[in-house]
Amino acid sequence: MNSQPRTGAYPQPGNDVAVLAANLAGVRARIAAAADRAGRDASAIRLLAVSKTVPEDRIRLAVEAGCRELGENKVQELARKHANLADLDVSWSLIGHLQTNKARDAAACADDFHALDSVRLAEALDRRLDVAGRSLAVYVQVNTSGEPSKFGLPPDELLGFLSELTRFETLEVRGLMTLAALDPDPERTRRCFALLRTLRDQARDHDPALIGPGELSMGMSGDFELAIEEGSTCVRVGQAIFGPRHLPDSHYWPEARDLTPGA
Ligand SMILES: *Cc1c(COP(=O)(O)O)cnc(C)c1O
Repeated sequence: MNSQPRTGAYPQPGNDVAVLAANLAGVRARIAAAADRAGRDASAIRLLAVSKTVPEDRIRLAVEAGCRELGENKVQELARKHANLADLDVSWSLIGHLQTNKARDAAACADDFHALDSVRLAEALDRRLDVAGRSLAVYVQVNTSGEPSKFGLPPDELLGFLSELTRFETLEVRGLMTLAALDPDPERTRRCFALLRTLRDQARDHDPALIGPGELSMGMSGDFELAIEEGSTCVRVGQAIFGPRHLPDSHYWPEARDLTPGA
C-alpha cells in the first residue's frame, strides 16, 4: 500500500525510484515523438530535470532513476544541493534569474547558466569566473512573450547585447533561452518559441561567432512538445518528472503572478 503524502495538497508521484524512472521514460518518449513529428533527431535534445523544491533525498532517487543533468532556478538552492550532493555524477544548470550580487555562487557552482540578461550581470560573472580561473556556458534569455514584467531582453536588443558579450572571455555563449507565454491558446505559446528560433537564425546570419552553437533552451512540462516542434535543443522539465510543486510559479516568475486578476 502506498503511504499518503504528509504535507501539501498535491500527490507526489515521484517517491520511489520506479515511479521516477517511469516518469522519466514517459518524458523521454514524448520528446522522441515530438522530435519525430518535426523530423528531428531526439538525441540532439537535452533533457534538464528541474529539481527546484525537490528535497535532496528524492534527487538521489531521481539520479538512480537515470537523471544526469539537473536544473535549479535559484542560486542559493543550487549551491546548497551542489555541496550536499557532491558525491553524485551530475551536472547543475542554473536556469533562473540571477542577481548581480549572487554572481559568485553561480560562478562557483553552475555548469551552465540559462538566464543571462544584462551587461552588469555579465560583468559580475566575468569578474568572479576570472578569479576562479574558469569559464561558463551561458544562454541569453529573451522575453519572447512581450509580457512587460518578464525577465529577459527585448528581442530588438539581442544583437547589440550579443556583440557586447564578445568582450567577456570567460563567458561562452551557447544560445538563447525563453519562457513562453502562459496561454491556453497553444498557438500563442508556439509563436514565442518560433520567435526565439528566428532570433537565433538572424544572429547567426549577422555573425555566426555571436551565437556559438546556437542552442535553444525552451520548453517545460506544459509545453515542451511544442518547443521541440519549433526547434528546442534543451527542454527544462520539472513537474512531469518529479510531480506537482507546492510553491506557485509566481515564486519564480513575476509574470505568472501578473496574470492573476487583481495582482
Ligand atoms: C521551474 C522551471 C522550469 C520547469 O517547469 P516545470 O513546470 O516544472 O516543468 C523550467 N524553466 C524554468 C526557468 C523554471 O524556473
